[in-house]
Amino acid sequence: MKTLHCSDAGFDCKGVISANTEEEVLSHAAEHALTVHGVAVTPELAEQLKTLIKEEVAQA
Ligand SMILES: [Zn+2]
Repeated sequence: MKTLHCSDAGFDCKGVISANTEEEVLSHAAEHALTVHGVAVTPELAEQLKTLIKEEVAQA
C-alpha cells in the first residue's frame, strides 16, 4: 500500500491518500489538491509528491 500524507506536501491538512500504486496515489492526490486546496498539480509538483509517497507494509 502506497500512502501520501497531505501534510508532508506542505498543506495544513490531515488528509492521507492511499492506493495500491504510485500512479493511483498521484491521481487521487491531484483530485484532492484541486477540490480541497484549490491547487492544480503541475508535472513538477507531481514529481515532488512522488518523493513523498511512502510504502506502508501491512503487518503480517
Ligand atoms: Zn489535503
